[in-house]
Amino acid sequence: MSKVDLLIVKPGSARKQYSVFKDTLAAIEPPLWGLMLAAFAREKGYSVAVLDAEAENLTPDEAAASIKAFDPLLCGVIAAGSNLSASTQAMPGASQLLGLIRQAAPRLKTFLWGLHPSALPERTLKEEKPDFVMQGEGFSATVGLLERLKAARSEFDTPGVWYMRGGVAVPNPREPLVADLGSLPMPAWDLVPMERYRAHNWHCFDDLGRRTPYAVLYTSLGCPFDCHFCALKALFGKPQIRYRPPEKVIEEIDLLVGKYGVRNIKVLDECFILSRPHVEKICDLIIERGYDLNIWAYARVDTIDPALLAKLKKAGVNWLALGIESGSEKVRGAEKTRNYTQEKIREAVDRIHAADIAIVANFIFGLPEDDLASMRETLDMAKALNCAYTNFYTAMAYPGSALYKDAIKNGTRLPDSWLGYAQFSEETLPLPTKYLSSGEVLAFRDAAFDEFHSSPAYLSMMDKKFGPKTVTHVKEMLKLKIKRKYAAGAGK
Ligand code: SF4
Repeated sequence: MSKVDLLIVKPGSARKQYSVFKDTLAAIEPPLWGLMLAAFAREKGYSVAVLDAEAENLTPDEAAASIKAFDPLLCGVIAAGSNLSASTQAMPGASQLLGLIRQAAPRLKTFLWGLHPSALPERTLKEEKPDFVMQGEGFSATVGLLERLKAARSEFDTPGVWYMRGGVAVPNPREPLVADLGSLPMPAWDLVPMERYRAHNWHCFDDLGRRTPYAVLYTSLGCPFDCHFCALKALFGKPQIRYRPPEKVIEEIDLLVGKYGVRNIKVLDECFILSRPHVEKICDLIIERGYDLNIWAYARVDTIDPALLAKLKKAGVNWLALGIESGSEKVRGAEKTRNYTQEKIREAVDRIHAADIAIVANFIFGLPEDDLASMRETLDMAKALNCAYTNFYTAMAYPGSALYKDAIKNGTRLPDSWLGYAQFSEETLPLPTKYLSSGEVLAFRDAAFDEFHSSPAYLSMMDKKFGPKTVTHVKEMLKLKIKRKYAAGAGK
């Protein structure tokens, strides 16, 4: 008999994804979706365990041996970072682990969960060879599988599950989304090594020695928008947003603070600052308790207002991430959901800074209309806004996005391996634009990151805001260079 009904595993794939950044800069994030699935199954009466191979620093072989020792009835492998969208780049780690599980414990039943498997269920089943692929959130699908495995059934007619029969992929309809997020149990925080999680370096620029402990949480699921480059709806099936009752959110914060001493929290919501009553209620509940939190969350340029910002700051929201995407009106205009004017962007940034909230500005190089001049406009805008941290991404056609469908239709060269979709790996291969090659986009991105973070205006602002230790940290960060196989001029 199996020792445990359900084992959820987060493979240790971050080293490949983040290359040189893994050891010091990148966050080590709890596998929140895995904890949500585990808690859901536990509430239905199944015994559950979680193995976070990344946080435990296990090699793939050690992880496979550990999984074998757990001897679960069903093993769920999570192909995602804590952010749902970081799924394709998590596939190499998931794939390697599935192969090792097949060798170590050939009879063990496995499923693969994540946005990428949801986007490409049939291909994932055939290429990665788990017993099942989940398409969707996976709550009732996980329990449905456990019921059928316990009953030794060979028909897996449970919504949200794909499986192979006689060499053919058998689909089931998608499982319905959970209508009432308040009905979900508390994620199974008791099953992971909380002392091992660590915030991103920039999240703790005010005190780099306090990156641990760290937690992530949801106050809503989904997103009502439908950006061309975004693959989110592959998991949820359609653009939508559901809110978690603020009382449930604060219950989780109470647990994280009271039991685990958490101060650093990332709100995983795709767009936290959207429903004002929802955000205000959560802030009020935090403020009532007087917690000393260091929170970051995603916001939108068009949902920022000064009164709300003051409340956010009081609740401990010290960082907001803004998806600005491009400094060029032409490029933003082509991305219909991000068509803000330069003035609106400037106004939002000024308002956030006036509330003493730091900004992570997110830009993308290599959107379809980008050329060298528009990418320069983006870099110039980033420098003019001078936010405390700036992420420069490259455009990727992630499976599940409209961009991916376009790339397939147009025969655009895509990465040869899933690792090529990671932003910070040696294999990174972004999309070409109408005017630039992938290599030109990538080389521009890496040079832009260095130019921005080493500019005198940036370093002087950082010195005033966070002090000389943080400036030294930024300078050290810039010494870490990512090897790039495909950057223009690489190897010269
Ligand atoms: S705002 Fe756009 S990019 Fe962000 S989650 Fe929603 S659809 Fe995706």
